[in-house]
Order: sequence, then structure tokens, then C-alpha cells
Amino acid sequence: MLEFVLNFLFPPACCVCGKLDRNWLCPKCEKRVERLEKSCVDQIENKKYEKLLYLFQYESLVRKLILRYKFSNKAYLNHFFANRIAQNEKNQELLKQYDMIIPVPMHKKKMQKRGYNQTELVANELEKSLGIPMRKDILSKVVNTTTQSKLGGKARQSNIQHAFFIQNDSEVEDKKIILLDDIYTTGATSEECSRVLKDAGAREILVLVLAKD
Ligand SMILES: [Zn+2]
Repeated sequence: MLEFVLNFLFPPACCVCGKLDRNWLCPKCEKRVERLEKSCVDQIENKKYEKLLYLFQYESLVRKLILRYKFSNKAYLNHFFANRIAQNEKNQELLKQYDMIIPVPMHKKKMQKRGYNQTELVANELEKSLGIPMRKDILSKVVNTTTQSKLGGKARQSNIQHAFFIQNDSEVEDKKIILLDDIYTTGATSEECSRVLKDAGAREILVLVLAKD
């Protein structure tokens, strides 16, 4: 009922061009965004994670799409992003070498406020399409940090330090892990999550993000 009322007051519109569309992404813009897909793998040195796979560069249409996508529950877009990741054969081949997907967790308070964790929803879709188990019972966010995008480089690092906690240590021992997040900017969140996972014995970590800034 609430959804019906909301749809009436704020009819679903394409996140990119604003045209009314119940999927929040019109077919024309979907094609335009698809053409921007990169699916690039960076080899990372001197960090706690070994690889970074990003689906898009965080710019132009993609930026617009992700910004609007993040702050409301648009199921179709979870599918869209997960499909873009999973349908690429090169991605598939790489990702299937890993044991589990861990979505970067949100703090309980933020989760209550927003009602869902977008990254978790995409991880859920990936679990279904790639058959890699999604584990949200391992990493938790114990400090309710300031939103990273509001901070500069150095501040981001200290803001996120010791914000994550690991349960079920033994489950990650010697495992290859995909750490899923939405946007990669300075990599401070990825680094901190990876540090905790490596301390618990994880063997290798691939950071997978929708877009790299
Ligand atoms: Zn559109």
C-alpha cells in the first residue's frame, strides 16, 4: 500500500534521463550504460588485497545512475549490476576461483535507517548467478562512521580504522575471498576490511566494485 502511494506521488523514473520508467532505468539508457562497461582488473601491490575488479569508471551516466540507485531500493538495478558482472565471461572465470563473497557491511543504525544494504542485495544476486556463497555473518561494522564520501583522503583512513569486526574467524582461514563494495575511491574501506580478513587468516582477496572513482 505504502509503495502504491509512493509510486503515485513519486512515479518511478529512469535514474539517468528522468523519463518515467518502472524499472528506474529506461531501455535506451540501459544500452548507453552497458556500452560504458569496463570490467577491468587491477593488480594491486602493497595492500592487503591482491586484485581490484571494477565494472565501471565512476563518471558521467554511471555516476548519475549509482548516486540515485544507492539511496532507494530499486530491485531492478540490483539485477542490472549483478548481471553486468556475472554475464562477462572473463569476470566469471576469475570470480569462480573464489570461495565466498563478503559484502562490505553497514552499521546497524544505518541499516535500520535505510532498511537495506545495496551491496548485500547485489551480492545476493551474484550468489544466485555464480553459485559462490554470500556470507554476511563474517564481517560486521561496529563503529557508525561518518559517510566516507564526506571526507578527504587522510580523514577517510582514520575514519574507517577499527570500524569492522570479524566473527567466525575459522571460516575465512586459508580462503579466497571476494569483497564487494559499491564505489572505490581511495580504497580505505577495502583496505581496512581486507586487513581484518587477512588477520583472520584469509589467503587472498579480490575487491569487486561497481565503479572506480
Ligand atoms: Zn533513461
